[in-house]
Amino acid sequence: MIGPFTHQALPMRVVFGAGSLARLPEEVAALGMTRVVVLCTPGQEATGRAVAAGLGERAAGVVAEARMHVPVEVARRATARVAELGADGCVAVGGGSAIGLGKAVALADGPPLVAVPTTYAGSEMTPVWGLTEGGRKRTGRDPRVLPRTVVYDAELTLGLSASTSVVSGLNAIAHAVEGLYAPDTTPLVSLMAAEGVRALVAALPRVVADGTDRDARAGAQYGAWLCGAVLGATTMSLHHRLCHVLGGALDLPHGPTHAVVLPHALAYNGPAAAEAVRALGGALGGVDDPARELWELAGRLGAPRSLAELGMAADDVPRIAELAVSGGGANPRPVTRDGVERLLRAAWAGAPPS
Ligand code: NAD
Repeated sequence: MIGPFTHQALPMRVVFGAGSLARLPEEVAALGMTRVVVLCTPGQEATGRAVAAGLGERAAGVVAEARMHVPVEVARRATARVAELGADGCVAVGGGSAIGLGKAVALADGPPLVAVPTTYAGSEMTPVWGLTEGGRKRTGRDPRVLPRTVVYDAELTLGLSASTSVVSGLNAIAHAVEGLYAPDTTPLVSLMAAEGVRALVAALPRVVADGTDRDARAGAQYGAWLCGAVLGATTMSLHHRLCHVLGGALDLPHGPTHAVVLPHALAYNGPAAAEAVRALGGALGGVDDPARELWELAGRLGAPRSLAELGMAADDVPRIAELAVSGGGANPRPVTRDGVERLLRAAWAGAPPS
């Protein structure tokens, strides 16, 4: 039976296609932006400067200071710089770190954001912001941080390493997995999630084999768009909460942590999410055990499969389990301390999900 459900569509414009960066000036102009600051990480400063050059006289400057998890001091500095430059828009070029900085600026009453994503993490499609202060990451939802326009140009992803391609792609797949069993999932979310997973699992092996395969890069971006839209539309569950706690408390890297935890979180929730398991099984090529298949896929793609290899100590398991359980939140299966400890021990050791 279909429904009942409530679907809230987000007001976003998506410009997709190889070479679409050339359309950025007209897209920025259509939003009425006349002085735009380009935001990026230090590692992508050359790309940020090239994008600013393409914007011509609409470019007001480049701030190449984005960092993972958006430290508040970085956000404050960037917000002040954007105000100083008299900007009426920001363009974030990069992955979740650059886009996260643009969101932080918009959240602090800065100008609206246009995103040009260059990884597959999916942040560009969501109104979710994050800020880290004193070792704690806070997140929230605010329509002001939602990019007004997103320009996907696969040409900008040709230099993204195989390892970051894979872990950011698995991060996107995690959005789809949790969207399928979210309390506020809808038939449209389910379609986007299944198609997003299908696109990414088809594209990622080809991206790993040849990072310059434009067709594979575009396929991965298409999957990232859909999976990001799922994250933007639904409430996330235990998997995202665990990754959030592991990132905040132990400073584990974002994408690799998602890659390791996802099969285990799905195995934990599977018994309480039959419809999601069926949809994922189909999207993964007709398998009965999508958790096991995602674990095998991570291995085939060379992604990390244990929290130990990311630097977590076995002794940290009880503390992380406690933090994840005490946080509350949505989940299809009741979250028990014992269950989460078992999940974390398997993920720590790199064992297959069970
Ligand atoms: P990232 O943005 O940190 O990028 C990883 C590295 O790859 C950086 O050093 C970057 O400079 C480099 N890079 C990015 N694109 C490149 C390219 N095309 N070529 C060469 N180098 C490139 O990583 P990410 O996985 O995209 O983002 C992770 C961050 O995003 C985390 O802080 C996470 O919390 C956040 N995130 C937020 C949301 C949301 O909805 N708010 C969703 C997903 C992720």
